[in-house]
Amino acid sequence: MPQHTAFRKKASEGDQNDPLASFRAAFVGEDENLIYLDGNSLGRMPLASSKHMRMVVETQWGKKLIQSWNDHWINLNERLSEKIAHIIGANPDEVFLGDSTSVNFYKLAFAALKQQTDRTGILTDSLNFPSDLYLIQGMINSSFPQHKLNVIESMDGISIGYEQIEKALNDNTALLTLSHVAYRSAFMYDMTRVNEMAHSQGALVLWDLSHSAGAVALKLHEASADMAVGCTYKYLNGGPGAPAFLYVRRDLQEKLRNPVWGWFGHNKPFDFDPTYMKGDGIKSFGAGTPPILSMAALEPSLTISSEAGMQAIRQKSMLMSNFFLEMTREILLPLGFKVASPAEAERRGSHISLKHPEGYRICKSLIQPEGQQKSIVPDFRPPDNIRLGFAPLYNTFTEVYETVMRLRDIAVSREFERHDSSRSTVT
Ligand SMILES: *Cc1c(COP(=O)(O)O)cnc(C)c1O
Repeated sequence: MPQHTAFRKKASEGDQNDPLASFRAAFVGEDENLIYLDGNSLGRMPLASSKHMRMVVETQWGKKLIQSWNDHWINLNERLSEKIAHIIGANPDEVFLGDSTSVNFYKLAFAALKQQTDRTGILTDSLNFPSDLYLIQGMINSSFPQHKLNVIESMDGISIGYEQIEKALNDNTALLTLSHVAYRSAFMYDMTRVNEMAHSQGALVLWDLSHSAGAVALKLHEASADMAVGCTYKYLNGGPGAPAFLYVRRDLQEKLRNPVWGWFGHNKPFDFDPTYMKGDGIKSFGAGTPPILSMAALEPSLTISSEAGMQAIRQKSMLMSNFFLEMTREILLPLGFKVASPAEAERRGSHISLKHPEGYRICKSLIQPEGQQKSIVPDFRPPDNIRLGFAPLYNTFTEVYETVMRLRDIAVSREFERHDSSRSTVT
């Protein structure tokens, strides 16, 4: 039996034995000629989201107008925060939904630096997402001129060693902030282990869960996490610009002060008192009016992830990425591709990065194929990373198989030579 026939068989067995197979039908996906592997940037749209949004727009907004604030919207935030708490392993009163990941990161990092009065060290790693690094740079520039940012360098561009973190932490470290799953390589930290190391030096830890939430089984509370932020438009399928979340462990909520004193963080916003009075607990991390329409799109998505269960999602994610790597080793490595993600599923999130000198043009060929081929949508991260996101709720093992075979064909036929190297704004 030729090798690829064996892989094809394995793929169809994977799909037959997939306990999450029925969830694919919950998403818009009638285009049979599209393989969507970019759920780590913008998840597919749940059918229920478009239906629910239409009702919210036409009835709650269109007909009931301001009355809907009391009838439907004022508690929406709490309801959705509770669903997110369930997905990330936190208590409901430890999660706030609203604003963007970047803004929430600012609130929590600022609060942490203020709280750690006698410390000036800020620690992160070179795998972290640029926005997080910019936010820290801006904070030092505008408000914490004595503070220094120390960026731990990855040796291989894929992972960071725990001994590097241990060495970099000291009794001057105010804050350690890391992406739990690295956006480029998918390297995943053992959260409990890092928290323990930081806490033993008295440092606070702020996690960015943007590539973890909805993809891996998180237990924030159990892992003694201090603070976290994350977005909901990636593996949580909340739609473009969906509101982000933040988490603050209960016993830290009174110690950390949101630097943005908006009326939605006030104890009694509708008293219209001219003086700010901090709201209780996690509510104090709010700022302004929540984005109701975006939240309406998010609600059905969160229900889907909860119903599927994070254990089952993670299980399938590991099987898919392992299958992809098994095929890659046999078929793609001899053709000049390199794997730029950890080899062990336990040390990875739900995407895989491949490197190839022609990575960008190969991405273009995947998306815009010659002839009758399916269009395959990955994304590209400079300089040469082809990122393939496996979303367990709607991707299949057969899609994984077809993607590897298509990458092989593009490399062998040099089909990518028909494309130029010009970039669109969003890649
Ligand atoms: C996607 C992503 C973000 C996005 O931040 P926004 O403020 O929502 O644009 C932040 N951090 C990480 C690690 C991400 O992957």
